[in-house]
Amino acid sequence: MMSQANEMTLRFPADARNEGFARMVICAFCLELHPTVSELSDVKTAVSEAVTNAIVHAYPEKTGDVVMRAYLSGEKGELTVEVEDSGRGIENVEQAMEPFFTTGPEQERSGMGFAVMRSFMDALEVASTPGKGTLVRMRKKFGQDA
Ligand code: ATP
Ligand code: MG
Repeated sequence: MMSQANEMTLRFPADARNEGFARMVICAFCLELHPTVSELSDVKTAVSEAVTNAIVHAYPEKTGDVVMRAYLSGEKGELTVEVEDSGRGIENVEQAMEPFFTTGPEQERSGMGFAVMRSFMDALEVASTPGKGTLVRMRKKFGQDA
C-alpha cells in the first residue's frame, strides 16, 4: 500500500532510440504499486504512443527534447504521466484525437495513437500550441482489476 507521493522527470532527445527507454522507465517507476501485468502493459502501451508521437511528429525539421514527468499519488495509487515536447504543435487537437486521423498516411501511420492512449488509460488530456509544442497528460488508477 502506498502512503507517500512520488515523482520523476526525464528529459531525452526526440530520437527513436529513446522510445523503448522511456517505456522501461515508466514501468520501473510504477513498480512500487505492484501493478498487475495488464496494468503495466496498459501504461507501457499508452506512454509508448505518446512518446512515439513526440519523436515522429513534433520535430519535422530541427531536433528537440521530450520531457516525461510522472507522479504517483493516492491510497491505492494513481499514476499521472505527462509527455511534453517543444515542437510544431497541433493545429486542431480535437481532429487529431479522432480515431484514424493522421497526417502521416504515407509513413504508414494509422491514426490510432490517441485512441490507444484513451482506451488504455482512465483519462487523457492534450494541450497544444502550434509552433510551441504539445503536452499529453494521462492518468491511471491502479488496483481496479477484479
Ligand atoms: P499512429 O499513432 O497510429 O502511428 P498517428 O501518430 O498519425 O498514427 P495519432 O497518434 O492518433 O496518430 O496522432 C494523430 C495526429 O496528431 C498525427 O498524425 C499528428 O498530425 C498529430 N500529432 C500527434 N502528436 C503530435 C505531436 N507531439 N506533435 C505534433 N503533432 C502531433
Ligand atoms: Mg501516433
